[in-house]
Amino acid sequence: MTTDLTGRTALVTGAASGIGAACAERLAAAGASLRLVDLAAEPLQQLADRLGATALTCDLSDLDAVDGLDVDVDIVVNNAGLQHVAPLHEFPPEVFHQILTVMLEAPFRLVRRALPGMYERGWGRVVNVSSVHGLRASPFKSAYVTAKHGLEGLSKVIALEGAEHGVTSNCVNPAYVRTPLVEKQIADQASSHGISEDEVLEQVLLEPVALKRLVEPAEVAELVAYLCGPAATSITGSSFALDGGWTAH
Ligand code: NAD
Repeated sequence: MTTDLTGRTALVTGAASGIGAACAERLAAAGASLRLVDLAAEPLQQLADRLGATALTCDLSDLDAVDGLDVDVDIVVNNAGLQHVAPLHEFPPEVFHQILTVMLEAPFRLVRRALPGMYERGWGRVVNVSSVHGLRASPFKSAYVTAKHGLEGLSKVIALEGAEHGVTSNCVNPAYVRTPLVEKQIADQASSHGISEDEVLEQVLLEPVALKRLVEPAEVAELVAYLCGPAATSITGSSFALDGGWTAH
């Protein structure tokens, strides 16, 4: 069964970079019409032009702006995210709030407005780009871990409510993926630990991972497309670790 999404419309958040851009490419290749959302207007427009997609520049921490987006789509990929690393007792409350808003409340706002159309058409796919940090915690990532654990819960509720309407909802849970978000963490940790970037990769990031390599964005996008395709019709309320064995511990 190949993933043919001709005639389907998909909205992908955080599409200007990394995993979101890879998802946009993959869903476009499967024939979907795309609405791409991101804060970063220029790279978003460039990708949209290349894929024949619609670019919707939006700051997902602005929930009024989120509620203004046209979300009458068949597929929602909740992907936009950001990271902040600090001990809990020093974690800035405003950053905690921002991360929860972008990574949990915005997905809720998008999905709640997309569902009526999906229900009407009797078909819908919600794919939430969670993380291994939706299933496991790490120190110093309180907002990110909290948001991703929340997203796991939201995804399961969407799955239960959507089932009778032909709507599925699932999470994908990568370990570290080769994207700007991770490249920044590698550079930051190298300077804070006083070690090289290769050492950060081996000794810090990949320490809990059995397969000592970064995941590529295209691998995540392939799983996202699979979850939108006909072979995944019975899959809902699930979470798929793409984590090189991290959660096998
Ligand atoms: P990235 O930084 O390459 O891309 C994230 C995108 O989200 C950017 O284009 C950014 O502009 C956009 N974004 C951030 N804040 C936004 C806001 N307020 N409004 C609109 N857009 C906003 O990161 P990535 O690694 O591709 O991450 C994508 C998703 O994958 C995130 O949810 C992240 O938590 C998740 N994830 C990443 C990894 C990893 O190792 N890179 C691992 C597991 C999960």
